[in-house]
Amino acid sequence: MQQNNPFANQETECLFKELSKVTNIKTGTRFTNEEINKIIPQIQKINKLKKEKDALILAHYYCSPKILFGVADFCGDSYALAKKAREAKQQNIIFCGVTFMAETAKILNPTKKVILPPITAGCSLANGITADEVLALRKKYPNAKVLCYINSSAEVKAVSDTCVTSSNVFKIAERTKQDQIIFVPDLYMAKNIEAYLKNKGIKKEIIAAGATCCVHDKFTLTQLKEIKTKYPEAKIISHPECLPEICKNSDFVGSTAGMLKFVKENQSKIFAVFSEWGLINMLEAQNPKKTFLPCGRICASMKRNNLDNIENVLENLESLAGITVDKQLAERAEQTINNMFKEAEK
Ligand code: SF4
Repeated sequence: MQQNNPFANQETECLFKELSKVTNIKTGTRFTNEEINKIIPQIQKINKLKKEKDALILAHYYCSPKILFGVADFCGDSYALAKKAREAKQQNIIFCGVTFMAETAKILNPTKKVILPPITAGCSLANGITADEVLALRKKYPNAKVLCYINSSAEVKAVSDTCVTSSNVFKIAERTKQDQIIFVPDLYMAKNIEAYLKNKGIKKEIIAAGATCCVHDKFTLTQLKEIKTKYPEAKIISHPECLPEICKNSDFVGSTAGMLKFVKENQSKIFAVFSEWGLINMLEAQNPKKTFLPCGRICASMKRNNLDNIENVLENLESLAGITVDKQLAERAEQTINNMFKEAEK
């Protein structure tokens, strides 16, 4: 499911070629040559600095296209990024994403310095449940297996059994032997797992707790129906963090990497993507002959990563402490993440 960034570290023309195909969410139009020209010196400076400072730049698909196409060594979904962070050889990992992602990178590769360019960037899901709440659920349902979405804190991972990402959640839930699953912290994803298992005739009780993604929970069924009426030929694709009724009425539901694959392989010419704008930008670049309706939403936390703070952290790398996770806590959380790798790759 991982997607290498085909544009990183290439010539300036490549940046022009890719950025000119994507929507600038500030203007609502394609990036102009003037806008691209303006950022070229900074992009060149960052790419030079990262080599000098032995740094790897990882970026989630929800980041700005300037990061995705200009400076990232690797772009991916949470699963691919976690694997990439685990394998990183560079001494420094600049993680363009949100706090729980950088924390996961540190857990998986503890000897590296991991820096989040905005230093902190929250996520409504990761902030949606505490380890104590998970422990209380464990006590109430002692026979249940605890699956935690990767969008959770290190503390929550440490008290869970197996981590999941949107690229493997359905597969891992389906293979879970226990009849009860405690799923945290995405309430809508829990409902979507329930629907998926029911469709497959698998009986399991899903005990959900936590919150919803403040970006994906804003898509509505009314919006979806309007799109279907206006563009009956459009394929609707959505993320499992969306409302169950959105997922139920979508042509495809999957992780960001899954959506990229679906669009690439699908013959349709028009798509409505119920996810974050950064992903739509990547889709626009990879599929210039296909149309993407402007229905994306913005994750303000992801957009806190920008060229200025990437340049700044690279310049001051030596004086920055980076992400820290208590050693014992990290070891317990790592076990939960490794359980995911084992189950996802079976
Ligand atoms: S899009 Fe939602 S789940 Fe992803 S980082 Fe933003 S708030 Fe968290």
